[in-house]
Formats: sequence, C-alpha cells, structure tokens
Amino acid sequence: MIREMIRTIVIVGGGSAGWMTAAALANAVGRSIAITVIESDEIGTVGVGEATIPPIRSFNAELGVSEADFIAATKGSFKLGIQFVGWGEADGRYFHPFGVHGADFDRVPLHHYWLRQRLAGDPTPFDDYSMCWALARENRFGPPVDNPRDVRSTHAYAYHFDAGLYARFLRDYAEQRGVRRLEGRIVEANRDGATGHIADVRLADGQCVEGDFFVDCSGFRSLLVGGTLEVGFEDWSHWLPCNRAVAVPCANTGPITPYTRSTARASGWQWRIPLQHRQGNGHVYCADHISDDEAAAVLCASLESPPLAEPRLLRFTAGRRHRAWAHNCVAIGLSGGFLEPLESTSLHLIQTGIERLLRLLPDRSHDPLNAEEYNRATAAEFDRIRDFIILHYYANRRPEPFWQACANMPIPDELAYKIKHFLGAGRLVSPHDELFRNPSWLAVYFGQGMTPDRYDRMADLRPEVDAAGQLLRLRTLMRDAAATFPTHDDYLAKIGRAGRTG
Ligand SMILES: Cc1cc2nc3c(=O)[nH]c(=O)nc-3n(C[C@H](O)[C@H](O)[C@H](O)COP(=O)(O)OP(=O)(O)OC[C@H]3O[C@@H](n4cnc5c(N)ncnc54)[C@H](O)[C@@H]3O)c2cc1C
Repeated sequence: MIREMIRTIVIVGGGSAGWMTAAALANAVGRSIAITVIESDEIGTVGVGEATIPPIRSFNAELGVSEADFIAATKGSFKLGIQFVGWGEADGRYFHPFGVHGADFDRVPLHHYWLRQRLAGDPTPFDDYSMCWALARENRFGPPVDNPRDVRSTHAYAYHFDAGLYARFLRDYAEQRGVRRLEGRIVEANRDGATGHIADVRLADGQCVEGDFFVDCSGFRSLLVGGTLEVGFEDWSHWLPCNRAVAVPCANTGPITPYTRSTARASGWQWRIPLQHRQGNGHVYCADHISDDEAAAVLCASLESPPLAEPRLLRFTAGRRHRAWAHNCVAIGLSGGFLEPLESTSLHLIQTGIERLLRLLPDRSHDPLNAEEYNRATAAEFDRIRDFIILHYYANRRPEPFWQACANMPIPDELAYKIKHFLGAGRLVSPHDELFRNPSWLAVYFGQGMTPDRYDRMADLRPEVDAAGQLLRLRTLMRDAAATFPTHDDYLAKIGRAGRTG
C-alpha cells in the first residue's frame, strides 16, 4: 500500500521552539512539505532562555550553521558548566562541568580513589579533577583538542546566547528555505468531525490555515495539545515547588565568565548568565515562601551593575503533558511541559523533540504507532531530567523553611534508588540511558555534601596503583594545561572577527 506523505505542516508559535522546529524541518525536507509558522506579535514570546548544554552544538551543526556566525548573531558566549553557590551548605560552592572528571587510570573509577583520599582526610575538592573547572576558574576558554590521550580533550562546552536573537537568526534561515511566516492571533482551531484530527486554525483577521500536521509551539498556553485536543498536564510542583521567576538584565562589569552561576537564595535561586552585550539575571522562587516584590528586591539588590530594564515576572508550573503527541499534532517547547531552568534543559528538550519528530514523521494515515513511540521517549526523557533537578533541591543542607521542606520531601522511587546506592557504596546506577550521566551526578552528589562513607573495596585490593600520585599528577596536568588556553574574552574577540552578524 502506498501511503501519502503529508503535504503541509503548520507550526503554531514563533518563539525558540517554533523557529528551531521550522529551521530543522526546512533543512531536513526542503520544499517537499509546505511549512507555515504562525506567530502573534501581540502575544509575543516568553523571551528568556539563555543558557544551554553541549548537544545544542550538534543542532547548529546539522543546520550547517558555523559557530562564528552563530556567536556573532546571538551575541553569545561559551559555557563550560554551572557554578553552584550555597546549594549544599549555605557557604559551599561547586562546579557542574560539561565533561568528565580527570581520566580513569585504573579499572577502579577515579571517584572511588578520590573518595578514599577524602575519607583519609585529603580536603582536595572533586572539582579540581575537572578540566572544565580548571579553565572556568581562570576565565579561559578554547575548544577541546582531538586527541583522547591529551587532558585538553576532556572538557566539553555549550553556549550562553540571546534567545530572541537566536529565534530571529533561525527565522531568516527558515524563510530562506521556503518557510512561510504568518503574523496574527489564532482565535480558533477546528477538528475533523470523523477523525478528531485538527483540520485548520483560524486567525483573528478571518484567515483560515489548513494543515495535514500541526506542531504546537504556542508556549505555556498549549493552544492545540492542551487546549483543542484537551491533553491533561502532569503537575510536579510537589517535587519542584518553584513556580515563578523574575528576570532582569544588567551590564557586564568584568571579564565575561565562561560559565553560568546559580546562587541559592532563601526561597529559590538566582541565575547569572553572561552574554557579550549584557548579563542575564533571574530569581526563580516559590511563591508560597516569598512575595513577587520581595523576590524582585532580592534580585535587584544583588546585581553587579544597575538594571537595564524593568524586572519581568514569569509564572510557571513544573510538569509535562500526559502525551506530547495527540492525533495529528505534537507539542514542542513550553506547550509540552516545563522544567525550571536550573540545568538549562528546555532548549535541549526542544531539540530532542524535533529530532524525534524527524525520525517519526508521519504520513497521512497518521499511524498511532508514531505517536506512541514519540510519547514514550518524551515522557522518559522528561522524567529522568526531572529527577536530576530534584536531586539539587533534595540534597541541600540549608536552614530556611523552603529548603528544609525540599530536604524532607518524598522523592521519586528511581531517584531514591540511585541515592541509596550512591550513599551505600559510592556506586552510580542508572537503569536507563539518560541525558545527565555519571560526571553530572557525581558533581552534584559530592558538591552538595552527599559523601558516602564507603568506597569500592577493589581500590584497596590494588596496592600497586599509586592513586594518590596519579590524582596529584592529574590536578597538576590540568592546571598547567588550562594556562595554555586563551582568556574567554580573547577567544570571543577572535571568533567575533571570524563571524558574520548577518
Ligand atoms: C524563567 C525562565 C528561564 C528560562 N531559562 C532557560 C535557559 O536558561 N535555558 C533554556 O534552555 N531554556 C530556558 N527557559 C525555557 C525557554 O525560555 C523556552 O523553552 C523557550 O523559549 C521556548 O519557548 P516556546 O517557544 O515554547 O514558547 P514562547 O516563547 O512563549 O513562544 C510561544 C509562541 O506562540 C505564539 N502564540 C501563542 N498563542 C498564540 C495565538 N493564539 N496565536 C498566534 N500565536 C500564538 C506566541 O506569539 C509565540 O510566538 C526558561 C524559561 C523560563 C520561564
């Protein structure tokens, strides 16, 4: 049986999700499918989303976008990880790097040797075995080298950028490849009486836009999947109680740091994201514990320079749609769910949502198997990332009521299982493939003071391994290697000269 391909895709929404989807679809299918993006200037976009994780690089590479052009167009900077301040003990600091810790020098994983040293009284922080941190603390940056035997190959990186400029950049890219843009507010979506699929959307000016397939990128409104198709929302506020953010930019005052900073506050936490032309700042908090005015005051009082705009308030609820794909429509971006920006995962979830859609692109029979697999994989991905974010809250040792409530909350079973094994024997277990791998879990566990009192006994059965010597050598190697990289500012200037703004 020859099945007819879909001929038209309508993307509802022109925020980061809408334009990332449009660009990737246009790149993948060219003009074989007519793609339309509908966005409303009157409604606007959420307008935040500045920090990313390393897979964004493969998204840009797949589009054929050069790093220099991208950095120039989005006024971006480089990101080696996140510095967490005050998350374990109120005065503690640690770094969640994009990359491994050290290099394994034995069959026993490095962190067990570190743990043995720690239990014997060695105060060296685990961070000191991260090449990302070796660079970040000196404000240095350069891409990793291509030789796996070289310690300078052990870091990875992502970007900070202006999400509005990125959407604009991708819009140009998509329009050059035939994507049609319609400006206007959708007031109605109509369903086919027989199948229940979405048939068309109608704009306030009376225009009607038909489609074989719809991508709901309408943001928190979830116009089609949540609204028209009435797919419910799984609320995770009991695990992730922060439900508001106030955001404000200020000017950079010193060198542009190649990392995000996340500072715990009494009822939430604050981000600091350095771009080339400004610093993004925001306070994420739980409205049960602090008022909006107080939250804005806390943020403004800690800015490094005067605010460049009025603080913007954003409301959200952690969770995801029960199903991202229903009938002939898939929700990508905030319309499908939201996890707070602590680990910069929202744009990544858009990226993987798009990649999954491209793998499962339906024909006009709308085989439910496509939606079934999409929904299984999307739910699993959301749930794993959710657990990793919960760990940050659960593993705190702060005294404030908000933090005490987090430390004492019941947590998901799989997360409890992981923590049990880690605390029991320093063992990292993961029943599934997941975005955040062992180095990330180790950074948060050790960084927030979850130190097991046992390590792998195998370490003691290998007296021939000079672990202490190897650890010292690694630290020294990393420190010396970091000094061979340019400063982040110099690297940005160099790449800026190579990029086209537009
Ligand atoms: C406080 C906060 C901080 C964040 N920080 C980060 C971060 O550091 N890193 C990260 O990866 N992500 C971050 N995110 C998430 C990130 O901002 C979003 O994932 C991303 O911007 C995608 O948003 P979106 O395109 O889904 O929705 P939106 O930006 O809200 O876009 C929705 C689009 O739909 C259109 N629309 C809606 N209704 C209609 C209608 N009726 N008719 C026509 N058009 C309509 C709007 O006009 C708009 O174009 C953050 C989010 C928040 C709330």
